Formats: sequence, C-alpha cells, structure tokens
Amino acid sequence: MGLLILTILTCADSASKASEWGDNVIAELKIQADVAQRIQKYAFTPMSLDVSKYSPEEKQLLSELIEAGKLADEIFWHQTYYDNLRLRDAITRERKDDDPVRKFFFMQAGPYDRLADNEPFLDVPPKTLTGGFYPPDMTLAEFEQWYQDHPSDKEAFLSSYTLIERRGAGLAAVPYHEAYKEFVDAMTGKLLSASTLTQDEDLKKVLNSRALGLLTDDYYQADVNWVMMKRGKFDLIIGPIEVYEDALNNIKAAYMASIGVTDEAASAKLDVYAGHVADLEQFLPFPDQYKNKQPDLKTTFTVLQDVYRGGLMRSGFQYVAESLPNDPEIITQIGGKKTFWKNALDARMDGIVAPVGNRLVAADQLPNMSKEGYFHFIQLHEIAHGLGPHYVYGTTTPINIALRDLYSWIEENKADIAGLHSLRYFREHAVIDPAMKAQHMVSYLASLFRTMRFGTGDGHGKAALVSLNFFLEKGAITFNQESRHYAVNFDLFDDAVASLANELLMIEALGDYDRAKALEAQYVGMPDFVRASMDALKDIAVDFVPLYEIHWE
Ligand SMILES: [Zn+2]
Repeated sequence: MGLLILTILTCADSASKASEWGDNVIAELKIQADVAQRIQKYAFTPMSLDVSKYSPEEKQLLSELIEAGKLADEIFWHQTYYDNLRLRDAITRERKDDDPVRKFFFMQAGPYDRLADNEPFLDVPPKTLTGGFYPPDMTLAEFEQWYQDHPSDKEAFLSSYTLIERRGAGLAAVPYHEAYKEFVDAMTGKLLSASTLTQDEDLKKVLNSRALGLLTDDYYQADVNWVMMKRGKFDLIIGPIEVYEDALNNIKAAYMASIGVTDEAASAKLDVYAGHVADLEQFLPFPDQYKNKQPDLKTTFTVLQDVYRGGLMRSGFQYVAESLPNDPEIITQIGGKKTFWKNALDARMDGIVAPVGNRLVAADQLPNMSKEGYFHFIQLHEIAHGLGPHYVYGTTTPINIALRDLYSWIEENKADIAGLHSLRYFREHAVIDPAMKAQHMVSYLASLFRTMRFGTGDGHGKAALVSLNFFLEKGAITFNQESRHYAVNFDLFDDAVASLANELLMIEALGDYDRAKALEAQYVGMPDFVRASMDALKDIAVDFVPLYEIHWE
C-alpha cells in the first residue's frame, strides 16, 4: 500500500506544500499526551453478524461489497487532509498496531480529533478549510474569483465531484474519477463482480449503475435505481456523497460507504409513514408559497443491520440514520430513501444518550426517556431532511450553494426542528400514539447534550447548541440551579419548536446567508451553566465505535 500511496502523492500538487516534516516524521512530531484519554471518549461496541447460513454466492457478494467499501475508505484519506497519506505511511512504519497514537489516527482518518472541533493531536498545522479538496493555501475569495473570471470553469469548480488543483499560476478542476483513478477502477470491479453473484434484479441494477457512476462521476441513474429498488437482503451506500468534510464551501463530496443487511420486519413498520410525507410538508410552519409542491413525493424506508462502514461514515461521528440521495432533482422528481441502522441506534442509546440523560434530565421526567421516543425523533429528523424547500425561492440555486459554510448546521437544525414539529403532526393524527408526546420531548432533550459534545465544528453539534439556547430563551426547556437538571416545559415546547422551525425554513427558502449568520451569532454562545453540565459528562463516552464481527462459517 505504501508504494501506491507515494505514487499518487507525487502526482498531486499539494505534495510540494507539505514541507513541515522531514523523513523521520514521528520523531519530529510533538504528540499530544492525552491521546489515550481521547480514545476513552469512545464506547467500543461489538456488532456481530452470523452469515454461516448464507449461500456461497451471498457470502462472496457480501465480501465483495465490503472490499468496495474499504476502497471508498481509502479515497477518503486523501480528501480529509492534503498531507494525510505521507503521515499515515510514517505512523504505520514507526508505530506498532496497538500504539494509542496509531489507533487514534486510524479512528479519525487523520491527525485531527473530529470530536473536538478538529483539534490536531499531532504537531501538524491546524486543519485547513480546504482539506484535501483544494490547494491548502487557496482562499475562498481566490476560488470564487477564478470561476467569475473564467465562466466556462464555473460548473466544474462548483461540482461536488471535482478537486481543485494549482496548474502553474492558475487553478484547475480535476474530476474525482481521474484524481482517484486506481481506487475508483478497483471499486468498480468489486461492484460489478458482486452484481454477478445475485439473482435480485434490483440489486443488480443498483450495483451496475453505481459502478458506472463511479467511473463517470454522474450518479443520477445510480441514485434513481437505488431509490426505486425493492427492499432485498442487502443494501449499500457507496461513493462520494456528503459534503460536510468540505469546510470551505460544503460543495465537495467525501467518499463514504455503508454495507448493510435488511431488517425487513423493522422496515415494514416504517412504511406507514411514507403515505404522510406530503401532509408533513403542508404542516410545516411557514408560508405555503415556499413549500415543496410535489404531491407524489415518494419516500421509502429501510432498517438495516450495519456490517461495514468506511470513509466519512466511520470517521469520528457515527451515523445511525441517513437520508439520501442529496440530488434535489431526484428528491423532487422521484423521492428519497431513509436508511436507519438499528444496531448503531441501539449502541448510541445504550452507550451515550441514556447515561447522559440520567445525569442531566430532571428525575421526574426521566421515565419518559426511551429508546422508542428517541428512534421516532431520529426517524422524523431524516424525513425532515426531505421536507421544505430544496432550491432558493424563485431560482434554480440549490440551498447549499446559497448558504455555503453555514449550510451544514442550518440543514441539520432544520431536520431536528422540522422533525420535532412533524412528530406533533403524527401524534395529533394518531399515526403515532399521542401518549408518546413526553417521550419524544424528553428523549430529544437528553440527545441534545449528547450531540453538543461534538462541538460547534460539527453541523449537528452547532445545531444542538443553537436549539438549546433558543428553547432556554423561550422557557420551553428550563434549568434548575439546585438540582443542576434540565426539564421540558410540555406546554411551551411545541410552540417554541414551530417558531424555530419557521426561522430555519425561511433562511432556506430565501437562501438568506446573512439571516443564517445572525441566528448563529445570537444563539451559538455556550452559557456557563451549560458548560458546567457538559463538563459533568466527561466520564461518559461521546460516541461508539463499531467493532464488526462477521461469522462466516
Ligand atoms: Zn441529518
């Protein structure tokens, strides 16, 4: 692997910028003494799957999919930090398998602690906004100036599937399938090989079109096939998908992968929600003129057992659910698919949310903290990603382009808050038992403190802090100075949710960057008593790390 990596690095312009270290990298790097403590922030959770009864073809197919996932993971290493591969090579050479620095570096897919605002834990430069997507010394102004001066480059520059490189005195956009050709070709081979091992025609179509997509960076047909596929035994998410790793623009997609086995019984329970998506859109608390007008909005649900994750999906923050595709044209024309990983959700609730809630939620409300309440909130968060405007009103500009660096946290906050508002609709229309009200609200309250621990460098973390401050201001969440506990005001909560939902939806509808910035400025500070509450959680894990065990025989 080392040789392959070095070959690629010499091709990249960024290699010449990486002059911070000499040959004996680790000896020269100052390592934060607290790496072992950082590792303790994770609950290592075994997740096993017995495939001994699978047919030989199914076993081989699963194995091919996991191999493809590992290649997506490999590309992600290139995307997160411009000098990551040289650093990894050195750490692998100079540190043993069980060394805490090596272990933590691999957990984070780089030298930055993702759960601590990307603080470096090795003596490397602070994480650049440009990551591995742009030249490390390029500014946002230079990026924008370039495509304004060169309009024919604009589309390629704003593409989610290109890297930006320096070419002499200028800039150039390089498609991912060229930049990462070795890995993309290998991944394509794995998917095509997997497609020959299944009789499931829908899965075959998904694998073939995804392979073609990776070779061209045109994912339209692959995404359409994936949304339309009937639930079968296996499901997968693979390719350059989420833009959260691009801190400069939230435009460039990071590679990620998830391989799962379908839980059909749990999935079928969620099918009833699908018929209500258009009603939820109508129920959103903002003017009708801005609402998504597509009455046939089609949403499908899948509950999976997670058996592998790679790239952005396994580094730092662990997903329990995902709403895809991100292409707004597909969402509006064809629909979306919400994926929930049941074993990941259980790991998060048992290992983090429940212990956090037990410490910070008022004793008389604690009986309302429940796995079911939390799962409902997670389900509606994902549904809400598909609700509301997808383009700036009256334009064809996608919202992430208009809101740039603020998009991640605004969109996550919208999903949380419009999701809570949608739970109210489900209760009021008995889609969900109305008696779940307190469980929804209290489980959400406990989850806020879990999410805030990711810091404001994370879109979810910033959204949680903004929401908590907003609800405290409205009296919808209260803090008891004596018990140091938080409680939901059940009478005020729904109205406060509607009020914040309105603000977030209007920011998205109008693509109003300044209004988003103002909301952030008003609510992103952490009050002293909240900081004290967060400090009181230090011995509780921040997130889980899945330890997959597949029993093949
Ligand atoms: Zn989300």
